[in-house]
Amino acid sequence: MSSNLRDVALKLGFVDAQPTTGHPFNVWLSRLKGTHWERLSHIHDPAEVSGWQTCEITIWTAIAPAPPLADWPEDCGEIGAYYLSTKANKNRRIAWEDEAISMGYEIICDVFLPERAAAIRAGLGVHGLNGLMIAPEHGSFVDISVLLVRTPPPEDAKGPEHDMSQGCGNCGACIEACPSGAISQNGLNVHTCLRHYMNKLDELPEANYKNMGRRILGCDVCQHVCPYNAALKRIQPADELVDFMKLENLLTSTDFGSISEHVQLDETRAKSQAVLAAANTGRKDLLPLVERLAKSDDIVLSKMAQWAVGCLK
Ligand code: SF4
Ligand code: SF4
Repeated sequence: MSSNLRDVALKLGFVDAQPTTGHPFNVWLSRLKGTHWERLSHIHDPAEVSGWQTCEITIWTAIAPAPPLADWPEDCGEIGAYYLSTKANKNRRIAWEDEAISMGYEIICDVFLPERAAAIRAGLGVHGLNGLMIAPEHGSFVDISVLLVRTPPPEDAKGPEHDMSQGCGNCGACIEACPSGAISQNGLNVHTCLRHYMNKLDELPEANYKNMGRRILGCDVCQHVCPYNAALKRIQPADELVDFMKLENLLTSTDFGSISEHVQLDETRAKSQAVLAAANTGRKDLLPLVERLAKSDDIVLSKMAQWAVGCLK
C-alpha cells in the first residue's frame, strides 16, 4: 500500500523515493563521536522521535536535484547551490507530507532525523568522504527529504544492515581542495568546515579569514572537485540575485528582503563576510565602505572589517 507514497513523491518532482525500516541510525551516531553534533544524538532513533514502536515505523526518503551553480562573477559574493534550492525543496517536502496525510497516513511533519543516513539506508546513494551523500545520477547535489510514517515497513524496505555504505572510493580530491583542511581520509571534521563557521562567525579564527574567499553562504568546493559531480550541468543564478550579490551592494544594502524570493540572507552576517571577500579579492575601491563597517556596533562585523581594512591598506 505504501508504495503509493513513492508515486506521489515522483509526481511532486522528487527523482526517487524509497522506504526503510525505522531502526535507529547507529552507524550515523557512531560517526558523530567527538563532534559538536553529538549533542543532537537523541534524534538518531525514529521511535524516540515519534513515540511509536520501531515495528510500526516506515521512513520514506526522497531525493530531488539541487543543481550546481555556474561560477559567480569576480565582483560578487558566492552562495552555494543548496541555499538556492532550499525554498523549492521545502515546499516539495511539505506537499509530500500533505499528500500523505490526505491519503490517511499518520505522519510527523518536519521531522528532524539524519536524512543522509536515511537516504543511504534506502539505497539512494553512498557516503562521500566530504560527509555528503552521493547519488548515482545527481552526485552530491541533491536535497534529501524524509517522511516518518506510522505504518509497518513494506517487505522490501531496507534495514540497518544497509547503513554501512560502500563509500565513494576516497579519491582524495576533496581533501586537496578544501580551503580549511576540514577533510581527511577519516572524513569531514565539521568543526573546521567553513559552512560551520558561517553559522557561528564569532568562532571563525582569524587564520581562516583568508580561506573564506568570497563565500557569503555555503561552500561547494569539495563538491565541485568530486568526480561524481563532473558531468552535472551547472546552472546560472537569476540576474537579479547576481546583481544583489555584487560586493559593493552587499556592503551597502539595507534591503536584504528584496532577494528573499531567491535566498534568505542575514544582513549582518552577509556584510561580515562581504568585508572579508572585499579584502580577499583586493578591492581597494571598496575600502571606504569597509572602513565605515569597521565602526559597526556589531562586534564580529567590526572585527572582520578592521582586519579587511588592514589588508586593503
Ligand atoms: S564545504 Fe568547503 S570548507 Fe566545508 S569541507 Fe567542503 S570544501 Fe571544505
Ligand atoms: S572528491 Fe573523491 S574522496 Fe571526496 S567525496 Fe568525491 S569521490 Fe569521495
